[in-house]
Amino acid sequence: MSETPEFPAGAGPHEPPGSREMAARAAALDAADPLAAVRDRFVLDAAPDHASGDAAVYLDGNSLGALPRTVAGRVADVIAREWGELRIRSWTESGWWTAPERVGDKIAPLIGAAPGQVVVGDSTSVNLFKAVVGGVRMAGKGCTEILVDATTFPTDGYIARSAARMTGLAVRPVEPARIADEVTERTALALVNHVDYRTGRLNDLPGITHALHSAGALAVWDLCHSAGALPVGLDAHHVDLAVGCTYKYLNGGPGAPAFLYLRESLQERFESPLPGWNSHADPFAMDPAYAPAEGIARGRVGTPDILSLLALEAALEVWDGVSVDAVRTKSLALTDFFLECVGVHVPPDRARSVTPYDHRQRGSQVSLECRGAGEVMDELIRRGVVGDFRRPDVLRFGFTPLYTSFADAERAARVLGEVLGALPEVGTGAAGTGG
Ligand SMILES: *Cc1c(COP(=O)(O)O)cnc(C)c1O
Repeated sequence: MSETPEFPAGAGPHEPPGSREMAARAAALDAADPLAAVRDRFVLDAAPDHASGDAAVYLDGNSLGALPRTVAGRVADVIAREWGELRIRSWTESGWWTAPERVGDKIAPLIGAAPGQVVVGDSTSVNLFKAVVGGVRMAGKGCTEILVDATTFPTDGYIARSAARMTGLAVRPVEPARIADEVTERTALALVNHVDYRTGRLNDLPGITHALHSAGALAVWDLCHSAGALPVGLDAHHVDLAVGCTYKYLNGGPGAPAFLYLRESLQERFESPLPGWNSHADPFAMDPAYAPAEGIARGRVGTPDILSLLALEAALEVWDGVSVDAVRTKSLALTDFFLECVGVHVPPDRARSVTPYDHRQRGSQVSLECRGAGEVMDELIRRGVVGDFRRPDVLRFGFTPLYTSFADAERAARVLGEVLGALPEVGTGAAGTGG
């Protein structure tokens, strides 16, 4: 007799104090949400039905964004008609050849870039390589080092180290908050994550970029966890180079191609370390001598991955009429509300937020440090709350304002409280390493 239908969401015979209020507030916040209708542009489980509780709450869009409804039909058309019927003609007639720049221009407004500065193709890792080596080649002759965000997502560090070996520079890991103090005239560039993938901390892009420029260094930003989640302002803050993936908050699909941003005024000086024929000034001249294309096409390498690229292009239609500012406003409201619900449902000694409470330092996820986090997340997923786990002890919950509701946030925190109540042995120090 634990759950009976007459209890509203969050309520039951043993609900914690405040539980009913949080459920009621979630309903009111959803009713007043100007982005609420955008959720219908995605394929998702039906809104959580508290009588059945079967539908999953999806809070892993910071790892793989949900599927926009327009994608399947578009991809079917690309395969059946553009490939199946038009075949080779599609490179020109269907606009395949120019898709990397065209899709780049559709991402550009979401990251504060004017047209002609973003190209889509290859993975984030490959674009990091282009950006770091290309950046070093543009830097002053006396430069001896690259600074790398000490808390970076690993691939950035691996690539930066290899790029440094190839260019004869050293790599120095530095905490983002220390970059302004650590940069010297010998620094070629710093590679920094805009939002920390593990903690959800938002780094100070304007301030760090300015400090790097004051020392004569270039700023290379990794936007994987900010593109589509919050305003970036690449042009406004004079960022030099940036990369980002499109399968997280841009919902482009598994393995969707990444983007490279190259500030317009630097394009002429950019020498790609991967000068494939697609980045040649006249690819079909088949010239044995390399001459780089003008503009952002210089960031291309080889033949674009058309199926993924056009799936991404269709996915970007969910942004029609949606501003990144509105997304940011809702994102902060969602993460604030989730943290409040965690406060109601979860004993403070069982889970602690490692995501900053200060809005200026928060991305669009909440990470909770919780002993036994792996086991806890497995049980959350069994109960229909899909976040993810980062070793050793972090529960990550990603909030995608285009489709995450306040009811989702409330349910996730409530079910987390239930899971911790049902797993009393977990989180007492036996599992995980804490810290
Ligand atoms: C997700 C992510 C990547 C992913 O790199 P891929 O080459 O697309 O696998 C890179 N950097 C950061 C900061 C990320 O969050």
